[in-house]
Amino acid sequence: MAKEKSPRGGARGKFRAHFLANIGRIMDSDELRVVADNQSEWARRVRELRTEEGYPILTHNDRSELKPGQYLLETPIQQPAFERAISKETRACVLDRNGFTCQMCGAVAGEPHPYDSTRKTRLHIGHIVDKSKGGSDDPANLCAICSVCNEGAQNATLIRPDLKQLLIQIRRSTSADQLEVLKWLIAKFPRQAAEQITLSIK
Ligand SMILES: [Zn+2]
Repeated sequence: MAKEKSPRGGARGKFRAHFLANIGRIMDSDELRVVADNQSEWARRVRELRTEEGYPILTHNDRSELKPGQYLLETPIQQPAFERAISKETRACVLDRNGFTCQMCGAVAGEPHPYDSTRKTRLHIGHIVDKSKGGSDDPANLCAICSVCNEGAQNATLIRPDLKQLLIQIRRSTSADQLEVLKWLIAKFPRQAAEQITLSIK
């Protein structure tokens, strides 16, 4: 095979175009090696697309159904630049603070998404007060948001459900679902749950 030296941007452009033309199809390293025109370049190209351009290229580290050496781009939506700039520590801290749960819809990282069960929930970092409304990139203004909500509501400010409406919803639900809510709340607030139980027994 002829190996022409293409300019850096050109080679990356060709690699990017290949991923964008194959959204949703699993590709292996042999295929990517050919696309990159260079045995040693392809892994670096994948890294560049992921970290510098924010394309969510998935590997076996992200998906259990992918084998080592397999790559998958499911969506052409790039991660915003601010999110790429967030340190791993800040990201981990925000996700932990939010219980690895989307703050808009309550979807849990890694579990099937409640609005689309064919998708596993992937969490991004979003702004509580949107940047267009003066919000900053400070960790205090960051929260976990899933890719479904992120795609649907890039500019929406997070509106929390109103307590009265929430209680009405819970009262109307089945006892089995109410018990699920109870279990979830006890897992989230074990100490407070114990205190409440002690108080109600006294
Ligand atoms: Zn969500």
